Amino acid sequence: MRYYSTNGKAPLASLETAVVEGLAPDRGLYMPERINHVQGAEGGSLHETACRVAEAYFGEDIPEAELRAMVTDTLSFPIPLVRVKDNVYSLELFHGPTLAFKDVGARFMARMLRHFRRSEEVNVLVATSGDTGSAVANGFLGVEGIRVHVLYPKGKVSKIQESQFTTLGQNVTALEVDGTFDDCQALVKQAFMDDELKASLSLTSANSINVARLLPQSFYYFHALSQLRRLTDKEAVVSVPSGNFGNLTSGLFGGRMGLPVKRFIAANNRNDVFLEYLQTGQYRPRPSLQTLANAMDVGDPSNFARILALYGNSHKAITQDISGAAYSDEQISETMRQCYDETGYLLDPHGACGYRALCEGLRDGEAGIFLETAHPAKFLTVVEERVPRAKVDLPERLQAFMRGRKQTVPMSRRYDDLREYLKRCRN
Ligand SMILES: *Cc1c(COP(=O)(O)O)cnc(C)c1O
Repeated sequence: MRYYSTNGKAPLASLETAVVEGLAPDRGLYMPERINHVQGAEGGSLHETACRVAEAYFGEDIPEAELRAMVTDTLSFPIPLVRVKDNVYSLELFHGPTLAFKDVGARFMARMLRHFRRSEEVNVLVATSGDTGSAVANGFLGVEGIRVHVLYPKGKVSKIQESQFTTLGQNVTALEVDGTFDDCQALVKQAFMDDELKASLSLTSANSINVARLLPQSFYYFHALSQLRRLTDKEAVVSVPSGNFGNLTSGLFGGRMGLPVKRFIAANNRNDVFLEYLQTGQYRPRPSLQTLANAMDVGDPSNFARILALYGNSHKAITQDISGAAYSDEQISETMRQCYDETGYLLDPHGACGYRALCEGLRDGEAGIFLETAHPAKFLTVVEERVPRAKVDLPERLQAFMRGRKQTVPMSRRYDDLREYLKRCRN
């Protein structure tokens, strides 16, 4: 399979190049040239379903046995579909090592990178607003020949999230940036455009722009629909709490591969550039706003370009498949409270956006799935404060992170500082 760039000015790339480079040389995002139909994804186990999807994407490039091993290693935890109330189901994506959906993409990418780069030292650079950093750091932890550098905005990430990538040691370094998430993301992008730096050290991105993180996320959409089909024959709607829109984009790819979903809902917090695009046809990126659902605090979602590419830039086609919603912190809190009171189900602030958008958007004859992208315990303070009646259990793997000692490298948001740091990382 070859991969093209959303900017259309780069040569077609192999899977290996797309994975190792991350971003195309024209600064576009890689897209698979073809999207194969998935055969027989329904009715099997998570593992079997995921293997079918993996073969459709990567079967031409990775030997079958090895691909199946990557899938098995990646999916070391269940992804259950849980009924919350009539016609509303939660796809619980938080049963992995860092309790968030990003574990799936990050674990898969670590294994794919190791497959392509067995002998060379690779530096993985990742910007995070919280969950990416922990998923990537843990996905790559202890993998020989790979060093991970996590950039995160100082003071804008919860203590629990922070503990999951600042306490690991080994091959993982956390860079505490005096700026916002957008600054971190801009720094990473700049490093990838720095040819002189790249000539002296091998740099790879692990942000959701990387196809090795993005595409495996389609696995669980197929698994979700397979589970839903056993419960109802209503038409399916999927609601996705969105920040950089990687998760939704992998669902849209699934749709092209034959996933039986009628339509998608993009659920946002107050960072509503995408909703505005749906409503007006105008895309106006802006600085991100801080909200309770902080992993979705993104003002210029990187995967927007992929959505445009997938729909040939047609606003009309996009609005036929995707609707949107955006919620204030007040509404997020109210939703967590109401859902808990009515159903006993405890949402995290991100899942709350997905849940509410689904409840408000469901029509007659439809059943809906919202992606519960993180465990509520990851946002303990917010949840305890906003849903005082709820009893939050702290999973043991979270407590273990919190016992660790924080170690970070302070960094300004000036690119020169990051550059100097990276140069010091050469062997
Ligand atoms: C990253 C994240 C999101 C947003 O996912 P995107 O793929 O960036 O749209 C939503 N919820 C949680 C908990 C996350 O960590």
